[in-house]
Amino acid sequence: MEQISESASDEAGLKPLPKLTVPISERAHRFRKCYFPHATQADWNDWHWQIKHSIDSFERLGEIIKLTENELSVQNYLKITPPLKITPYYASLLDPDDPLQPIRRSVVPVKAEYNYSPFEADDPLGEEKHRPVRAIVHRYPDRVLFLVSNWCSVSCRYCTRSRVIGNNKRYKLDLAVWEEGLAYIKANPNIRDVVISGGDPLTLPDLKLDWLLSRLRLIPHLEIVRIGTKIPVVLPQRITPSLLRILKRYHPLYMSIHFTHPDELTPEVSHVCKALADAGVPLGSQTVLLKDINDNVDTMRHLMQGLLKIRVRPYYLYQCDQILGSSHFRTPVAKGLEIIEGLRGFTSGYAVPTFVIDAPGGGGKVPLIPDYYQGRDENGVVLKNFQGLTYHYNDGLTLKEIAR
Ligand code: SF4
Repeated sequence: MEQISESASDEAGLKPLPKLTVPISERAHRFRKCYFPHATQADWNDWHWQIKHSIDSFERLGEIIKLTENELSVQNYLKITPPLKITPYYASLLDPDDPLQPIRRSVVPVKAEYNYSPFEADDPLGEEKHRPVRAIVHRYPDRVLFLVSNWCSVSCRYCTRSRVIGNNKRYKLDLAVWEEGLAYIKANPNIRDVVISGGDPLTLPDLKLDWLLSRLRLIPHLEIVRIGTKIPVVLPQRITPSLLRILKRYHPLYMSIHFTHPDELTPEVSHVCKALADAGVPLGSQTVLLKDINDNVDTMRHLMQGLLKIRVRPYYLYQCDQILGSSHFRTPVAKGLEIIEGLRGFTSGYAVPTFVIDAPGGGGKVPLIPDYYQGRDENGVVLKNFQGLTYHYNDGLTLKEIAR
């Protein structure tokens, strides 16, 4: 593996930043030489370069992977929502020959996206109904979602906010819109937690992000700030010394990182997650359960155990939301429960995420837990352990007392 030292510059003009050594894996190195022969190692490790050279056309994508008829046919549709977009770094992880490779399926559009099933909607979680101002989604008593960007560096094909991504007409999330959001949070003392999301907030320039975080921190009743992002996974180059320095200023600040598959756990990703953790940012993962991508116990165990190794605590496993054209990604609910049952007890409790369904229409996250509680009999509470064996726990109550 090749190493490159990124020269650290401090945009705020403070004392010099430590150097961040960003690894470039052998695979990424070969990919760069082949498809971006004029790019230097420094270019490759520059997140602005990565964004500028994102793959956003079938012509360019077809030079990198062998597109199938199914994938190519998507070009005939007038609108691709969300738009095709893959960073060069993430494209280096795609299998050029296997259209069924899990992470390729998660970012390369196919015809099935144009089959809409009953119950699907462009706003399956009813977020629009819960937007008191343009930037805020307020569904829970003490926390809000703050939409700060309509832009992502990679478009996931199953994105719950497909309607937002790349939609400048409907979702212009500029400074004026942010000000409305800040005023709303300030005026609502019950809000103690804000999740900054979008789009991907870490695609914002440092200055804007710094400004937003500093303004949020001026709100006395706001206890914690969370950032929801996929950037460390699809554009690890964005985690610069300057960004780390900004994040450190606004603790307690948490980060929920969107992971899909163990193939994403590269040396680059491992490096930046550790750097974020060293900056004092508690890291959690969010994963969408996706058919033929990560819907089996082995894949999920590898992912969750791998995350713990890079200091990311598995947090949520989501049933895939009913976004338009996503039925080819969706698994029966029983599959999620089966996966949780296959993890719980068989590996560290830390490696077991909470399986949730975000209730259609805006009901919020509903956790689903396999049934370990089997009721009661004359010997107490009946429990099923992870191996399916039955145990009793006598809590001192008799059936008679309970019936009373
Ligand atoms: S990173 Fe999140 S918001 Fe962006 S396209 Fe993927 S799922 Fe959607």
